[in-house]
Amino acid sequence: MKKKLVLIGYGGMGKQHLKRIQKSKLTDIIGVYDNDLNKNYNDLSEQVKIYTSFEEVLNDKHVDAVLLAVPNNLHKELAISALKADKHVICEKPVTLNSLELQEILSIAKQTGKVFMVHQNRRWDENFLIIKQLLAEEKLGEIYYIENRVQGSRGIPKDWRQSKSQGGGMLLDWGVHLIDRILFLFPNQKVTSISTVLNYFLNHEVDDGFRLELQFESGKRAFLEVGTSNFVELPEWYVTGSVGTAVIEDFELNGKYVTLTGELTKEAVPIETGAGLTKTMAPRTDGSIRTHSLPVIQSDVSEFYDNFATTINHQTQQIVKNEEVLRVMKLIDAAFASSESGKRVYFKNGL
Ligand code: NAD
Repeated sequence: MKKKLVLIGYGGMGKQHLKRIQKSKLTDIIGVYDNDLNKNYNDLSEQVKIYTSFEEVLNDKHVDAVLLAVPNNLHKELAISALKADKHVICEKPVTLNSLELQEILSIAKQTGKVFMVHQNRRWDENFLIIKQLLAEEKLGEIYYIENRVQGSRGIPKDWRQSKSQGGGMLLDWGVHLIDRILFLFPNQKVTSISTVLNYFLNHEVDDGFRLELQFESGKRAFLEVGTSNFVELPEWYVTGSVGTAVIEDFELNGKYVTLTGELTKEAVPIETGAGLTKTMAPRTDGSIRTHSLPVIQSDVSEFYDNFATTINHQTQQIVKNEEVLRVMKLIDAAFASSESGKRVYFKNGL
């Protein structure tokens, strides 16, 4: 039988969950609760029950789990209440506003034995999975440097995302996705330091973008960037290694990867560029590189919901593990500290 979920928060992301969960074989949304009394539920099917309070949801014995899609500052309180009421929980990202809040939730989850799982859905983005595959197949050789960014030009939405107390700002919003994915790419590598600069270009109380660099113990570096004032976007992904470079330009997956076919040390012919001469930067015109199309990847985020159900049944482990999310939140804490102090934060024993 499908696990019965009630959606808490019928806003932008709540509606997405309702749509996506339809593909799930093992979970179903049987009800919705939103505290906005003027909410319009006309688009909901008659089978979906409208609850009038969170307590009504928690007291309903037919409900297996709640799916929290409410503003960020409410995640902790609602998650803890649900776990204590014997419900499993799916929680939207960012799981909480800092790592301490997450630890509070995790200790209650442990006490109650309920499943608590965070919706890190951007692990299922095709652009990320393409990079993951190129790395797994070692197409670029040893990776030196990886850049991932998202850029828009509309500023941050004019809702709770502009409020600090409600957990607004781009570091908590997109930052958790970008950090989560980079850690997922290099699962066995500790981070040795982080350096972050938050942007306040638009004069809000929260950041409207950031630039962040992670240093791994292997020497690899990751540069993550979010911008909301960019009328021309830089590539979403740029990854370079010992024998190749990959680029994904945009959400439409335009891009390529280029690999070395000949000798790395072939002598270059100097070229005139602008008012100078350069040998180092001379492009390869000698046939020693090959350009490839990006691999095509199929992805289905309904895996997330199905894994939640099988984890409840003790058949699988969580696909998004809480220790992974905690590590991300510790890096978020350090990113805020780095930006505030203007200094790189070092992790003595790695994180
Ligand atoms: P939203 O403002 O569109 O919707 C939030 C809804 O929650 C609103 O309908 C509001 O009335 C309701 N709400 C507020 N307080 C409530 C309460 N106490 N009880 C019940 N309902 C309450 O916001 P959104 O864009 O849907 O974001 C919701 C969450 O989803 C956030 O945590 C956000 O970070 C996350 N999100 C995730 C993704 C993703 O791709 N994973 C994308 C967008 C948003």
